[in-house]
Amino acid sequence: MIPRLFSFFPVLILLLLLLPGAAIRRPGPPPAERPHCCPAAGASPDWGFFAHRRINRLAVLSLPPEMMVFFKKNIDWISDHAVDADMRRYAATWEAPRHYIDLDEYGQPPFDSLPRTLTEALLRYADVWGVSAAGDTILLFGGERPEPHTPEEPWRAYFRRYVTPQFTDPEKQLQADTLRVFLQRNGLEAPALQAAFFRESLSAHGILPWHLQKMQRDITDAFRRRDSKRLLRLCADMGHYIGDAHVPLHTTSNYNGQKTGQTGIHGFWESRIPELFADEQYDYFTGKPLHVQRTTDYFWGMVLSSNSMVDSVLDIERALRLRFPPDRQMCPDMRNGVVFIAPCRDFAAAYQQALDGMVERRMRAAIHAVASAWYTAWVDAGQPDLSQMDPLLATEEDRKEAEALQTIYGQGKILGRPEEH
Ligand SMILES: [Zn+2]
Repeated sequence: MIPRLFSFFPVLILLLLLLPGAAIRRPGPPPAERPHCCPAAGASPDWGFFAHRRINRLAVLSLPPEMMVFFKKNIDWISDHAVDADMRRYAATWEAPRHYIDLDEYGQPPFDSLPRTLTEALLRYADVWGVSAAGDTILLFGGERPEPHTPEEPWRAYFRRYVTPQFTDPEKQLQADTLRVFLQRNGLEAPALQAAFFRESLSAHGILPWHLQKMQRDITDAFRRRDSKRLLRLCADMGHYIGDAHVPLHTTSNYNGQKTGQTGIHGFWESRIPELFADEQYDYFTGKPLHVQRTTDYFWGMVLSSNSMVDSVLDIERALRLRFPPDRQMCPDMRNGVVFIAPCRDFAAAYQQALDGMVERRMRAAIHAVASAWYTAWVDAGQPDLSQMDPLLATEEDRKEAEALQTIYGQGKILGRPEEH
């Protein structure tokens, strides 16, 4: 049975009359388009951001003293900027795929045939094309290949050097001359080319576990260079992406329950429940961070673990919704003078209880993993002395950049997948 969400509108109107300055932001679609549950994630500036900020802050507090000396000075910055990665999704098309991976697009767990590194994945899911002098488009690598495909070693080297670094280039361009030389050197047919490019299908389903590996390399490099500004930005973003990797619905194409009649469950699980209960009830003490030996396996492990919980997240909510009184499932709530409809406190408490602590476990695991990723990068960089590093001082340029991001975010046009953070 569909909960009668819109029976709350008289209450809403009453609230609006009673509360001067209150306003409904970005009203949702009419009832027929949204059968139940919450407004779109992002319908309020702070909605969905609570957990990310908490995770980054608590990760800082678990660091060893040698790191704390720098990170503690910047704890507010790292917490506040935990959500920049989501805000960038309103500014750049390449940002969205970094936040998720639709593992169900690649078969069944444990997805052994899915390459664990980006270069290997591109070798399987990218094609290289050239444009001849006559203007014809020629397929040079890829196309229909039998599985399993074992690319020849020269192509692997070419991808590592030229294709993977160009992954975020919107045009996916390659240098025609370099490609031609490569083809000639390896005894392959090498037509004269006026242009070259590649096309890949990974982005369509998200690149989260591969992007975490790049982030880890970049953070390690920033520690080595003692580049405090870059380091803090990367650490804040890494906290965000690792947070996302711990959310089951960031690992499935049914990311907002839209395929199973559960639209809105994304924000229910990752935003509403933590906001209502985390500070009141969760044990935030996660112990010391660990040095991770095999970061690729580590990042994949967290994503696969999240994915193993997808069915529970969906099935438990569906079962609860059928037995919970429909008129007590959705309630009006208010934040910063904005009224919105969200799962009622009792309904959220019942869902949390039925999940048997899953949200708390994943949030705790995320805190520990964020601290461990930062700690691992610091150790791998040779444990540089952070005591003399400059604290981050916001420059005029930084302020302008932050304002621009805020403006684009405020306009509310997300690029790519809409319903999740
Ligand atoms: Zn995100």
